[in-house]
Amino acid sequence: MTFPRIHDLLPDARAELRLPDHKPLYTEAEAQAEANRCLYCTDAPCIQACPTSIDVPTFIKKIATGNVRGSARTIFEKNMLGYSCARVCPVEVLCAGACVYTGWHRDPIAIGRLQRYATEIATREGQAPLFTPKPARGSAGLRVALIGAGPASLACAAALALEGHGAVVFEKRAFPGGLNTTGIAPYKLHAGDALQEVEWIAALGVEIRTGIEVGRDVMGADLVDGYDAVFVGVGLGSDSALGLPGEEGAGVYGATAWIEAMKVTRIGQLDLGKVVVVGGGNTAIDMARECAELGAVEVTMVYRRGVGDMSGYAHELELAKREGVRVIPETVPVGFVRLHDGRVAALRVAGAHAGKAVPGTEREIPCDTVGIAIGQSKLRGLADELPGVRLDARGCIVADPATGATDHPKIWSGGDCVNGGKEVVHAVADGRNAAHAIMRRLGKER
Ligand code: SF4
Repeated sequence: MTFPRIHDLLPDARAELRLPDHKPLYTEAEAQAEANRCLYCTDAPCIQACPTSIDVPTFIKKIATGNVRGSARTIFEKNMLGYSCARVCPVEVLCAGACVYTGWHRDPIAIGRLQRYATEIATREGQAPLFTPKPARGSAGLRVALIGAGPASLACAAALALEGHGAVVFEKRAFPGGLNTTGIAPYKLHAGDALQEVEWIAALGVEIRTGIEVGRDVMGADLVDGYDAVFVGVGLGSDSALGLPGEEGAGVYGATAWIEAMKVTRIGQLDLGKVVVVGGGNTAIDMARECAELGAVEVTMVYRRGVGDMSGYAHELELAKREGVRVIPETVPVGFVRLHDGRVAALRVAGAHAGKAVPGTEREIPCDTVGIAIGQSKLRGLADELPGVRLDARGCIVADPATGATDHPKIWSGGDCVNGGKEVVHAVADGRNAAHAIMRRLGKER
C-alpha cells in the first residue's frame, strides 16, 4: 500500500466519533436467532433486489449453521465491498424491502445486520485470508489504471487482482475509499471502518496511489497509453451552490464538504447553534440528522416542493423527524442575513409554488449554520483529460450500463460519474461488471 496507515490519517478528535453506531454488531446468539427466522426461499426475492445479486439465503443459512467464514465468502464472491454495503445499503428499499416477511407486514429479516456480522468477523485482523488471488500474470496479464478510489474502482480493482491482473488506483485525496470514507453518516459507517475495508482490498494485490490527481500529477493520455485499460470511477464533484447574495462566507457549507470535514478532520467540538439544511435528498437528511445528533440547538430542513416530492428515503426522513428535525416544505431560500461581523443570522425564504418563490411571502428563519444540499456538480473537466469519452446532457459519462464500456475502446467507467448518484452497491456492481468486461475483451488477447 502506498497510503499511510489509518491512525496516521484520521485524527482521534474528529466529530464523527461522537455519533454512536445505530445498528451495532450482533452477538453470536443474536445473529443465530435472526438467521433462523429466514425461510430460505427458492427464487428468493431478496437476491433479485440486490444490485450485486448476493445469494442472501445461502449466506444466512451458513450463519445459522455456524459457518461464518463460509457465509462471508458467499457475500464477497458477489460483492467485495460487502462489509461497507452491509452498513450503508438502504436495505429497506432493497433486499429487506423485498423479503417475503415484508409482504406479510412482519419485520423482514435483518439482512444488512447479518451481512455485517459475517463480513466483519471474517475479515478481522488476524483472520486467515478468505481469498487467494491467482498468481500475478506479469506481462501475460493486464495492467489497468483506475481513476478514483471509491467503491466502483475498488470493486473493479479487486476483481482484476483476484484474477492475477495488475490494478493501480489513482486517488487525488490523501486517503482512499471515496464516499465510504468521507460521506457516509457516522452512525452507519465510520471513516476508520471504511479505510480498514480498503486495506483488505489492497491486500489482494491492488496498488493504491493517493494524493495523485489525474490532469495535474499524471496526464489522462499517459494512463491510456501506458496501461491496457483505464477505469474511471471518480464519483461526483463539489456541492452545488444556490447562487444567492450572502451565501459566500463562514457558517454556510456545502453538505458533502461539511460531512467530509466532520468525518475526517479534527473538529471534535462543533458550535452549530441553530441549523437550516436546504434540500430534500438523502444528503440533506444525513446532514440534518448528524447536526441533530451532534447537539445543534434546532435543525430545520427547507424544501422547495412537497414532502412527497423529496428524493430522500421516506424511512430516513421519518427517523430525522423522530430525532427532532423540523421539515418546512414548499419553501425556497431567497437570501442570507448576516451580522456586521459576518456571522449568519438567518436564512431568508419565500413560500413556493411548483418549486418557485411566490412574491410577497418572504420571511426569515433565524439560524447560525446553513447546509446546502441541492446536488453536486459533475466532473466535466476530466472529460478533457480523456478525449473520446462522451458526456450526456447532465454531464455524466456515457457508458454501457451492463459493461461500463465508453465510446473510447480502452476506457470503462461506472458508479456515480455514470449514473449521476446512486447507492454504493450500484457503484460496486458497476465496478465488478466492468472488470469482467475488461477481462473478456482484452484478456483473451493475452
Ligand atoms: Fe430469507 Fe426473506 Fe430472503 Fe426469504 S426473502 S430468503 S425469508 S431473507
